[in-house]
Amino acid sequence: MMFKALLVEKNEDGKTSAAVQEIREDQLPEGDVTVAVEYSTVNYKDGLCIGPGGGLVRTYPHVPGIDFAGTVETSDDDRYKPGDKVVLTGWRVGENRWGGYAQKARVKADMLVPLPEGLTPRQAMAVGTAGLTAMLAVMALEDQGIKDGPVLVTGAAGGVGSVATAILAKLGHEVAAVTGRPEQGDYLRGLGATQIVARDELTEVTRKPLEAEVWGGCVDAVAGAMLGRVLKQMHYGASVAAIGLAGGAVIEGALITPFILRGVNLLGIDSVMQPYDNRVRAWQRIAQDLPMDKLESMVQPATLSDLPQLGRDILKGQVKGRVVVDVN
Ligand code: NDP
Repeated sequence: MMFKALLVEKNEDGKTSAAVQEIREDQLPEGDVTVAVEYSTVNYKDGLCIGPGGGLVRTYPHVPGIDFAGTVETSDDDRYKPGDKVVLTGWRVGENRWGGYAQKARVKADMLVPLPEGLTPRQAMAVGTAGLTAMLAVMALEDQGIKDGPVLVTGAAGGVGSVATAILAKLGHEVAAVTGRPEQGDYLRGLGATQIVARDELTEVTRKPLEAEVWGGCVDAVAGAMLGRVLKQMHYGASVAAIGLAGGAVIEGALITPFILRGVNLLGIDSVMQPYDNRVRAWQRIAQDLPMDKLESMVQPATLSDLPQLGRDILKGQVKGRVVVDVN
């Protein structure tokens, strides 16, 4: 039984190349559930895995795709039966085992989440790891209490930022969206942002211990110099959910002062190893609190053969919103 997949191969010089190929079902990795994949998506990590690997991929040939949604075809696990709609994100699928850029995937049942009522596989992939992470960040901010003042979203025109903007606006928060792409202002306002902040305003490294209190919460996809500045601008007792490092892995210019003088919280968000119960809670909140018309406005459709180019684009920060890959 043959099916299509994006296969990344490594040649004798150690260089990788990605192309759509026919592969056999018996090439799939071991697992207890086989899924007929309908849709996948593109994340930063996928860009790495479609390309040289970024240290994430261990063996070649490799099928990338850290997310997928589809229908259970066969299952050796009581929790799933043929016909069930499922979604997968994380667990290093698409990195150290074959992922969702194929018409079939085989995984452990523990890695799957039943698709919540009201969400189609296509919508689930418009959400993907990026959207799940945005929701986990919003839930973490809520658990700590969102303070007065706008909620800041950095890297707003990217995947996580777009979904975070739409969810926070739907929940009734004033959202300030930070972007380095001023031409995306209308798009961000369309998602519900009430204020657009230019990236440059927040990237100068200062040695000031604190700045004026502005933000009631923050979903930060950027880190780097921006997180160093934002921490100093948080309201007393407010929290920053740190989800990414699009602007660098070091928090530049950060001082201890926001933490010890204003009780600011820095909340780390990981979507990959997130426990099952919280995943289910987050997917249910997505079905409830993410406006589907806004989600649709973020979507850029794609096919398996578009992936090599999209992988390069996302590594350069040039993808807007969410890519939905129809693998069929
Ligand atoms: P995207 O590439 O879609 O978005 C990142 C956005 O960050 C860009 O669109 C851009 O937004 C902004 N940006 C890019 N480069 C810079 C820079 N040098 N300085 C400041 N801003 C920059 O990625 P995702 O939204 O999918 O992911 C965002 C980050 O979150 C990545 O680092 C990713 O690895 C991480 N991540 C972490 C997860 C977790 O579990 N914690 C899960 C998913 C992602 P704009 O053009 O609007 O300025």
